[in-house]
Amino acid sequence: MAIFDYAPAPESVRPQIREDYGLFIDGRWNTPESGTYFETVNPANETTLARVSYANAADVDKAVRAARKAYDKYWRKLKPADRAKYIYRIARTITERSRELAVLETMDGGKPIKESRDFDIPTAAAHFFYYAGWADKLEWVMRAGREPQSLGVCGQIVPWNFPLLMAAWKIAPALACGNTVVLKPAETTPLTALALAQIIEEADLPPGVVNVVTGDGTTGAALVEHPDVDKIAFTGSTEVGKMIARRVGGGDKRLTLELGGKAAHIVFADAPMDQAIEGVVNGIYFNQGHVCCAGSRLLVEERVHDEIVVRLTERLQTLRLGDPLDKNTDIGAINSRAQLEKIEELVRSGVEQGATLVQQQCDLPARGFFFPASFFSNVHPSYRIAREEIFGPVLSILTFRTPDEAVEKANNTPYGLSAGVWTEKGSKNMWVAQRLRAGVVWCNTFNQFDPSSPFGGYRESGYGREGGVHGLFEYLAH
Ligand code: NAP
Ligand code: MG
Repeated sequence: MAIFDYAPAPESVRPQIREDYGLFIDGRWNTPESGTYFETVNPANETTLARVSYANAADVDKAVRAARKAYDKYWRKLKPADRAKYIYRIARTITERSRELAVLETMDGGKPIKESRDFDIPTAAAHFFYYAGWADKLEWVMRAGREPQSLGVCGQIVPWNFPLLMAAWKIAPALACGNTVVLKPAETTPLTALALAQIIEEADLPPGVVNVVTGDGTTGAALVEHPDVDKIAFTGSTEVGKMIARRVGGGDKRLTLELGGKAAHIVFADAPMDQAIEGVVNGIYFNQGHVCCAGSRLLVEERVHDEIVVRLTERLQTLRLGDPLDKNTDIGAINSRAQLEKIEELVRSGVEQGATLVQQQCDLPARGFFFPASFFSNVHPSYRIAREEIFGPVLSILTFRTPDEAVEKANNTPYGLSAGVWTEKGSKNMWVAQRLRAGVVWCNTFNQFDPSSPFGGYRESGYGREGGVHGLFEYLAH
């Protein structure tokens, strides 16, 4: 039931997209040694946006050599305050071009324009601003008497859910600490990483300080295998993260892993309910649920279960699904056909295992990859939808009776990336938060991010921290 209809409000800016993109290596746009290109599509209408170079092992080797040369010749020798000037320049240009970058991010990945415009791009710029400020203050991060020392060449591999933001999380602290970088964006969302390469080119960074190699998993694997890479920073699935850990294990490459999650979002009966419902909606439907820290397991105190199900059912019907470039859209496109099929398969398993499915009632666009906002009630903790990461707009609701039971159920997962707690009692909030095994716990809020605040996981959600002072440690020798 739509309360009222909205007129279409399409975003009018159209970014310049080249027909073909080379590989950004050694400060230049190179034709790939592989001789191969692949297409990146707009998942909201399945049209091709551009042809992008496929980097094979020879291309990756060229990029690593360029990064090594840049490290030895320029970057490690540069005064920290001068490094900061370059990083500030990148931050300012992202801010100046934010609208164009937001549209590009939405076209390539399917996320609503209001999210890329108000969250992804400003937060990416904020990370460059934040770490630029640290570049000449690194001795304050170290233990007394120790000199800050960079690591060398960093191979950085990022996923498709926050393409520019994940690149910023990785590149900004690496550069601030004096390292050089080879970045591997995800196959389905290379365009904002390539736009960032253009920005870096215009910012006149010394050639080879940042290199961007587009491709697929094999490209990422070549970067992991390369003997002259000093550190791998990986964000992606737990499955690939474990493979990388096995490859790197025993050698002297440093490794940080930001992997999957199945966050518990706990709502007590005494919670401020209007706010909690909005927190739950934001926690799972933000970015179509393509969020590693999504609050995908809702644990509600038993006596408010029915009320929450009724309120969520109503709220689902007011979410607007459709054209991601429309400023009113809440739920955009699923990033790829493969991801849509994964979501559909897990939702089928939930129905087959006996959970009750509630979905937003709306027409899905005829073309493109879309999935309605959904939740399951009557979920048993052993069901696949309660254990596996769905990475889509699908919430599983479970119940508890006591705070102890809430904590036990919340921690009953192999993951440990994030969690949320809603209660009006500060002491209960703290009591629960201290017992949750998760890298981030949000109290009476959810999905809050800031460059000064560290982020990362426990257990199968990975190790290492990004953001804040903690994020600097990962790029310094110690
Ligand atoms: P993925 O398949 O693991 O891919 C992540 C990145 O690794 C992509 O660039 C991918 O390339 C590349 N890759 C694939 N196979 C590789 C290999 N064998 N060696 C090296 N690199 C390889 O993950 P995804 O499905 O794209 O991303 C979603 C996952 O990321 C979810 O599990 C989510 O929870 C996690 N994530 C975690 C965080 C965090 O901070 N903890 C943040 C965001 C997302 P291609 O895409 O080109 O194949
Ligand atoms: Mg794409």
